[in-house]
Amino acid sequence: QKQTAIITGASSGLGLNAAKALAATGEWHVVMACRDFLKAEQAAKKIGMPAGSYSILHLDLSSLESVRQFVQNFKASGRRLDALVCNAAIYMPTAKEPRFTADGFELSVGTNHLGHFLLTNLLLEDLKNAPNKQPRCIIVGSITGNTNTLAGNVPPKANLGDLSGLAAGVPSNNPMMDGQEFNGAKAYKDSKVACMMTVRQMHQRFHDATGITFASLYPGCIAETGLFREHVPLFKTLFPPFQKYITKGYVSEEEAGRRLAAVVSDPKLNKSGAYWSWSSTTGSFDNQVSEEVADDSKASKLWEISSKLVGLS
Ligand code: NDP
Repeated sequence: QKQTAIITGASSGLGLNAAKALAATGEWHVVMACRDFLKAEQAAKKIGMPAGSYSILHLDLSSLESVRQFVQNFKASGRRLDALVCNAAIYMPTAKEPRFTADGFELSVGTNHLGHFLLTNLLLEDLKNAPNKQPRCIIVGSITGNTNTLAGNVPPKANLGDLSGLAAGVPSNNPMMDGQEFNGAKAYKDSKVACMMTVRQMHQRFHDATGITFASLYPGCIAETGLFREHVPLFKTLFPPFQKYITKGYVSEEEAGRRLAAVVSDPKLNKSGAYWSWSSTTGSFDNQVSEEVADDSKASKLWEISSKLVGLS
């Protein structure tokens, strides 16, 4: 059997392009963990992934029951596991009102953070026993986690505050992790900060004992993906050229996919606890994270609360 990577949200954008890049090596089989089977199948065919280089398994991260079912189905499939890539995300920058997961959590936090939190924990043992002996667990981060950049400082900035909203389960009367009023763009950024903190916690808690390499990354601004589907039309027209010519952070979907695939498989990118970014001159480097992401006592508190919310403790 080839090495196997699970990629969540592989039906479009970064996940799809990373799946394509990995499958193209001939050394990896990709399990596309997607909520829309037909969309994933059509996307894989359209982008030219050879039959047999991938399989599709249903996963809806906005339901903890679906996450548990996915893990059961994956285990029952008898496939080996060498890498887990938590890539799926939902972004609702123009939403005036919050939406909720099946379990009643605000949708961006519930999907991007809590769904992946449960998934990674349930698959840790399988990863630990990876046949390729160099297992990797990757959760895609965002530039919002590095406030040493222009884009990382665009308001509303991420801030998990005292985590009181999360502790309450980010429910309708308290839908933000910091317990403040709902803001769709901030909810997304907060969820990504939580993803990056989770990677650092996993590294500290499990790397030595399991040998798993835990990493996060910011692949660059992929201005044309579906992530911006809910944004206003003018934004969608102006955002790609703005990123190309002003911030110069623009990256094509294909190149971003190659970057994520490298974090999965490149022997050089095997540093656990890393947050990979790319510079046009020097290529990949382990970037500095924001002060909040680096706050390990807050991250530990985030871990304990998340663990309770998804039913692990
Ligand atoms: P896309 O919207 O193209 O891809 C997001 C994927 O997540 C889709 O496949 C979508 O599925 C899936 N998804 C959403 N909700 C769920 C759910 N409940 N269950 C399962 N899958 C779900 O966006 P990108 O490719 O841009 O985003 C991929 C990652 O890259 C995200 O983690 C994002 O935060 C990150 N990122 C993106 C940047 C960018 O500039 N675009 C910059 C930095 C980070 P479906 O096809 O069914 O909608």
